[in-house]
Amino acid sequence: MSTSPAHLELVKALARIVGDAHLYIGDDRVAPFVSDWTRRFGGPCVAVVRPASAAEVAEIMRACAAAGVPVLPQGGNTGLVGGSVPAASGQQPPVIISLLRLTELGAVDGLAGQVTVGAGATLGDVQRHAVAAGWNYGVDLAARDSATIGGTVATNAGGIHVIAHGMTRAQVVGIEAVLPDGSVISHLSGMLKDNTGYDLAGLLCGSEGTLGIITSVRLKLHRPLGRTTLSLVGAASYADALALMSRAGVASESNAPGSRLLAAEVIDAPSMDLVCALADLPWPLEQRWPVVVLLEVVDGGDGSGLPLDESADAVVAFDAADQARLWAYRERQADAYGAVGIVHKLDVSVPLPKLADCADELVALIGTLPDVTTFGIFGHLADGNMHVEIVGPLADDLRADLAVLECVAGYGGSISAEHGVGRAKAADLHLCRSAGEIAAMRAIKGALDPQGLMNPGVLFA
Ligand SMILES: Cc1cc2nc3c(=O)[nH]c(=O)nc-3n(C[C@H](O)[C@H](O)[C@H](O)COP(=O)(O)OP(=O)(O)OC[C@H]3O[C@@H](n4cnc5c(N)ncnc54)[C@H](O)[C@@H]3O)c2cc1C
Repeated sequence: MSTSPAHLELVKALARIVGDAHLYIGDDRVAPFVSDWTRRFGGPCVAVVRPASAAEVAEIMRACAAAGVPVLPQGGNTGLVGGSVPAASGQQPPVIISLLRLTELGAVDGLAGQVTVGAGATLGDVQRHAVAAGWNYGVDLAARDSATIGGTVATNAGGIHVIAHGMTRAQVVGIEAVLPDGSVISHLSGMLKDNTGYDLAGLLCGSEGTLGIITSVRLKLHRPLGRTTLSLVGAASYADALALMSRAGVASESNAPGSRLLAAEVIDAPSMDLVCALADLPWPLEQRWPVVVLLEVVDGGDGSGLPLDESADAVVAFDAADQARLWAYRERQADAYGAVGIVHKLDVSVPLPKLADCADELVALIGTLPDVTTFGIFGHLADGNMHVEIVGPLADDLRADLAVLECVAGYGGSISAEHGVGRAKAADLHLCRSAGEIAAMRAIKGALDPQGLMNPGVLFA
């Protein structure tokens, strides 16, 4: 922590706002907040402050703005692009505002199918809260018990059910947030019809802590879809995997008759080898396929929705315990790569018709890159979203990252499908956003945050 007189005065002011117990300074106490899940990103902070209300967040913002000290909002710190932790160098250390005490879960509005929750509630808590009231929340991802609603909104998180319910932005019907000048904006009435000017909630979705601090969110819920069947199926290529997924049908929000595709994930053979070794799991199929597809369909739980003929090499799970066993092959992928070393995680998407060619080119390309010792691809097949994982290059060696992102951009893809831009890809934004788009984004940032104090270095290099 810095001991400059200005910082000491700020720290005293922050302690007056939240109380000494919720202000952390000193290496031991701030350690979990200043380095991230990937172990690739992190840097010093002035202090970690843990407010309990939007009013306290607003006071903190005003104190930091008066002191000219940057702020960094943090939820569960499961972000994978360096946006949830301070920069290692080159930036003024920020005050980290942890939202983990904003955990309120409002009563589920059964008429509208909506709920208002605090930004610090975990995704898992919100899911369970919705289920207890007879509803589902439409977003799910493996970090569900650490990632917060505020973080998932700030990153517009995707996950495994995007094909059925859309990204996080599609679930958000209102937001309360604190802007950089300390003003609180609150629009939580949940009206679906409300054409009264700019969609500020939509703007804050995916803003990665660069425009304001989300303190509360009004979320849309979904009626349970019914029982599902889950299958792992071997495929000879990405093209075959896509054909298989296509035969499983495409989901829609309408109550289409017959089965609905709820999730379609992909795991390549090297990634499958890693997770089997890490979790001491057997290879799940009879043969060793280049690509394994995970399909979950809503079909009443009788398997009738799966597009499997007699020649398919597949395992099928009907009950919850068996399904959890199969999901482990996909959900433990990030852990499996993390156990090998520091991972360069490239979360990219390409239009579905180009996915097979792009994946094949990426595999050939990465095989030629220097220092790469381990790599593979897994991801959300239905969304054209590949997680390319590369181990070997030093944490700050960006050559492999750039090679992958340039390859994806060449296919008209996105350099960030769902994790966000963060610090990791800020310098590469131009690969998939035009100069005009970036200028418009900078103009919005400048208007709301003229002092440039909100998470500097994130999104814009
Ligand atoms: C094992 C694993 C699996 C994952 N799977 C997926 C997946 O399938 N899909 C997916 O999209 N992501 C996935 N992620 C990434 C991560 O979980 C998401 O990005 C998640 O949305 C981050 O939530 P968080 O609360 O941890 O946010 P943090 O990591 O704390 O922050 C992420 C960003 O949001 C900002 N932020 C956080 N809270 C607020 C707030 N209240 N107001 C304003 N800004 C805020 C931060 O400044 C930062 O820029 C995974 C991560 C892990 C570790």
